[in-house]
Amino acid sequence: VPAHQVMDNVWLVASATDPTARTDEHDCHAYLVWDGSGGFLIDSGAGIVADRWLANAREVCDLEALGGVLVTHYHADHAGGAASASAVGLRLFASADTARALAAADEDRTQLARARAAGIYPADYRLSPAEIDQVVTEEVTLRSGGVTVEVVDAPGHCDGHVVFAVSGGGPHLLFSGDCLFAQGRVSMQAIPDCRLDRYAETVLKLAGRDVDALLPGHGDLVLEHAHQDVSRAAESFARLLPPPNFLV
Ligand SMILES: [Zn+2]
Repeated sequence: VPAHQVMDNVWLVASATDPTARTDEHDCHAYLVWDGSGGFLIDSGAGIVADRWLANAREVCDLEALGGVLVTHYHADHAGGAASASAVGLRLFASADTARALAAADEDRTQLARARAAGIYPADYRLSPAEIDQVVTEEVTLRSGGVTVEVVDAPGHCDGHVVFAVSGGGPHLLFSGDCLFAQGRVSMQAIPDCRLDRYAETVLKLAGRDVDALLPGHGDLVLEHAHQDVSRAAESFARLLPPPNFLV
């Protein structure tokens, strides 16, 4: 299963659904940003077939040339592959909440126990503990080669969720994890750390940014004019109404 280039300097390297980059049904969309001199992986899939995810990235670049793996949040479909990445020498970046949960492979904090009981993961699936090398917050800018990534706090879908903004003179990319999806959809679940009020603050903040392409953790990619999608969600929250749920 090869990597799938979706725009200049951006590849899908894991997905549950993309016909070209499909790795495993439990994986989120995982991306590679690579400018020929450096870059980052964004999210890590569930880890069940982490070897396929990393092989897809190796088709595009030498992993040793990457700055590391940026993890949007601690849900297993995004963070379960982090331990495998660390094992091959990639540095891991995530928020403090994500770092704590992954270090302990905390199945309550990450909601994995609940998700597994709901049938979302196989009965024998477990989260491998992973040590985050660098905790990131809103103030942090990360660089590798010519790729610059801005970290933006984005709680709501779960605690400690961050999104990653990349521009560098080209289009403004927003790697949104499970925070925002095409057509302004959001991901709200009946779990303890999904917080609607924080979600609204996050989306209203993101609507104040330049966003050309929205590269979410699931579903359709929005490769241009993505500010419209962000605005749609923000306009809904501004009227105190939750936007449509991505998960139905
Ligand atoms: Zn999630």
